[in-house]
Amino acid sequence: MNQNPKILSGTELSSAVFSKLSNRIVNLKNKSITPTLAVILVGENPASKVYVRNKTKRFEDLSLESKTILFDQDVSEAELINKISELNSDVNIHGILVQLPLPGHIDSEKILLSINPIKDVDGFHPYNLGHLAAGVPTFIPCTPKGIMRFFEHYDYELKGKHVVVVGRSNIVGRPISILTSLKKKYSDATTTICHSGSKNIYNYTKVADIIILAIGSPNFLKAEHIKNGAIVIDVGINRIIDSNGKPILVGDADFTSLKNKVEAITPVPGGVGPMTIAMLVENTVEAAEKLTKHS
Ligand code: NDP
Repeated sequence: MNQNPKILSGTELSSAVFSKLSNRIVNLKNKSITPTLAVILVGENPASKVYVRNKTKRFEDLSLESKTILFDQDVSEAELINKISELNSDVNIHGILVQLPLPGHIDSEKILLSINPIKDVDGFHPYNLGHLAAGVPTFIPCTPKGIMRFFEHYDYELKGKHVVVVGRSNIVGRPISILTSLKKKYSDATTTICHSGSKNIYNYTKVADIIILAIGSPNFLKAEHIKNGAIVIDVGINRIIDSNGKPILVGDADFTSLKNKVEAITPVPGGVGPMTIAMLVENTVEAAEKLTKHS
């Protein structure tokens, strides 16, 4: 039993990221360059609207620009690709983000492929995902990049550790499984990736040193599913109704049950979420620097 678990605050860590970025932002502004993100939002998905609002607000707080381009639910693939092509050639746009999920009639892969990889600040383009897999510097998807920052900041060396990732999406599970197993500092783990096709997932979580949850299943992981002193990184965001009938956000981990058994855990909200936005800002600043290096 650990009476003093470390609560890994993404709110605090993201503030440190923003402070570190401020010099780079000032340098760009001195050259009359404001890092600018274009966000494409399709339809009326309430969760997507909240995510986009949160991202936009953070950009405004830092005096950066974020332009949201709205499309109706029935927009065609061609219209989206035309808009992205316009944004690809607009010198005042440094990052392009297409808020997922897209409506069913749109092929998301096709849309993501149409973004110029140098403006792909979400890191979802196969060009950037391929570089990530090869361990070559590139735009890394924001959530996995933010998770790696926790390990670096708290000096958790993964070398020789067993990391179990639950979830294999291209946005979180797959890239974090690659990042944790690369041969470099703060990586070098033995990583197991579990998903809906895996049998007896708790047999893996019970022996893991570090568990990364990215499935979208409230309270999936409880104290009996981990060993003493494990580290739990909870990416899940689930909206549920609590016992008082109030809507609340919870992760994939049962925080209350786990908190006295873990070495450290990220809370939901206030854990991985703020770091995802911080990494989006960082990637956009980096894109602005790369795209304007001769101006
Ligand atoms: P996806 O739905 O794209 O992927 C979910 C993955 O989890 C899939 O690989 C799926 O398996 C697997 N899975 C689902 N249920 C189970 C289960 N019961 N057991 C084992 N595997 C399961 O989701 P995302 O990766 O986009 O997001 C995951 C969660 O993280 C969501 O709650 C999302 O809201 C949250 N999220 C949070 C972010 C943040 O900033 N905090 C950012 C991005 C996402 P299969 O591949 O077989 O379908």
